[in-house]
Amino acid sequence: MNSSLISKIEKARRYAAEPDRARIESLHIRFRGDHDVYDVRFDRGVWSCTCHSFEALGLGTCSHIMAIERLLGILAPRPAEPAEPLL
Ligand SMILES: [Zn+2]
Repeated sequence: MNSSLISKIEKARRYAAEPDRARIESLHIRFRGDHDVYDVRFDRGVWSCTCHSFEALGLGTCSHIMAIERLLGILAPRPAEPAEPLL
């Protein structure tokens, strides 16, 4: 392995230890639920899902969004976060 690649890997490890460096601004996930496949999106600070529960409950979340938040862990976008620019 050349030294340039080694230094990039070391830098990536340092970056990964500082998760505030990264923030998800938007994403689209196809989620296979028990009864159908749904489109879950996060865009401009707002989660949405095409499932019936998302619209019917009006809570701004559903089991699919909650599952994705768990899968994303520390990187899961938080709708209530103010939009602070990454400098
Ligand atoms: Zn849903």
